[in-house]
Amino acid sequence: MKSFLRIPVVLGMSLAIFSCKKNDDTSPSTTNNVPDVYKKIYGATSITSDGTYITIKTTGTPDHKSVYYANGNSLYENFSGTTFGGYTFAKNPNSIATQNYTFKIPINPTVSSTHPSTPLGAIGVALNGVPFYNQYAGPNQSLTNEMASFDQYWGHPQQSGGYHYHVEPTYLTSVKASKSSLLGFLLDGYPVYGPEENGASVTNAMLDVYHGHTHATTEYPNGIYHYHITNTDPYINGSGFYGMPGTVTQ
Ligand SMILES: [Zn+2]
Ligand SMILES: [Zn+2]
Repeated sequence: MKSFLRIPVVLGMSLAIFSCKKNDDTSPSTTNNVPDVYKKIYGATSITSDGTYITIKTTGTPDHKSVYYANGNSLYENFSGTTFGGYTFAKNPNSIATQNYTFKIPINPTVSSTHPSTPLGAIGVALNGVPFYNQYAGPNQSLTNEMASFDQYWGHPQQSGGYHYHVEPTYLTSVKASKSSLLGFLLDGYPVYGPEENGASVTNAMLDVYHGHTHATTEYPNGIYHYHITNTDPYINGSGFYGMPGTVTQ
């Protein structure tokens, strides 16, 4: 498992300087009261806390190559062949455009008695700042018809250029982290982990209807409810948020 690069920005304190493996690495600006776990969201432009909510700002643009970047962008890379689900890749007409997301998620997640449905659009944020979307392409519309348009890292942009993941973000699970790593958070503040645990694939049968379960994790040694991404429907979230969701604006 690769460790995440974290450079705390603390004015007036002398800190060890960690070496960057890439010169273009940037770290989000953070305030001092942001718990370390949120600093793993390396793609954020800023992460702040008011003690109740963590506010995460991101552009939503992926840090990996994509066929959906404009030809000429340094992250543009052509793609053809097979994508998620064994579909032959078929590009959709959209191009990645910078967004302006503000995710406000509770620091101390609490269980919701109503388990609100996830909205269309962003339902959470991945470590690279790209939003997670739910398992639908539109109101009561299955994702199946969209899967062929998932790019080399299994994301794609919608009509206004907002790039997003409905399924496993493979750049995170294969390059930046691992298949058993923390990969992000949903709006209710509960963490999202990858499709493997203790060396084995996580199946939907191991999860509740919201697509999670509770036990200790690396980041939460005392145990926490967490979602797992699986490779079968509903992929990230099931029948709504487990907890009381925060908000996202754009
Ligand atoms: Zn989509
Ligand atoms: Zn688990």
